[in-house]
Amino acid sequence: MDLIIARPEGLYCTAGDFYIDPWRPVERAVITHGHGDHARTGSQHYLSAAPGAGILRARLGEGINLQTLAYGERIDHHGVTLSFHPAGHVLGSAQVRVEYQGQVWVASGDYKVEADGTCEPFEPVRCHCFITESTFGLPIYRWQPQREIFDEINQWWRANAQAGRASVLFAYSFGKAQRILHGIDAGIGPILAHGSVEPLNRVYREGGIYLPKRSTPPTSKRPTPCCARH
Ligand SMILES: [Zn+2]
Repeated sequence: MDLIIARPEGLYCTAGDFYIDPWRPVERAVITHGHGDHARTGSQHYLSAAPGAGILRARLGEGINLQTLAYGERIDHHGVTLSFHPAGHVLGSAQVRVEYQGQVWVASGDYKVEADGTCEPFEPVRCHCFITESTFGLPIYRWQPQREIFDEINQWWRANAQAGRASVLFAYSFGKAQRILHGIDAGIGPILAHGSVEPLNRVYREGGIYLPKRSTPPTSKRPTPCCARH
């Protein structure tokens, strides 16, 4: 028996009558993490891992009907046992473990097996069936160790700073931006974060993740707009 099937609304657990990361509004949505292609507005009830609660509320709205579980905590629903396990992707990201009549299925959501310090590291979960996304799992992708990447970023930033040039890094506002902030050498110079990044930084800091302080922009040196002098 298939514990989880594909329906037009998304991945569906038949015995438990809930969806995992549904792409249409449903009665019960179990959410692996807060990225927009996994967490969508409009569902009646949401269930997620506790460390992702602040992210989901920031992105889907403070008023969503959200229940959370700590990693590893189990809940029983229609005879189905459900629990969340760290996926190592972004703050609060989880694999969903579903157990019913001795069968265990795990839906991974997005996951990353290399720990990056901004969320709980990936935890392998024993199961009969594993549902995986694998955007960058093809063998053509060969990633450098993250320490090397950060060394390169820091060297580039330091050289720019010595030459009096500002450095700008573009990154997705939730997840990648915090991973970069967590990993760079904050001693090189002041750091400013875009307005779409800073609210999520706050949620990460509240979750106990180290991110360097945002520097205050030098407002006194801001040039006076031309029209103000006329
Ligand atoms: Zn994601």
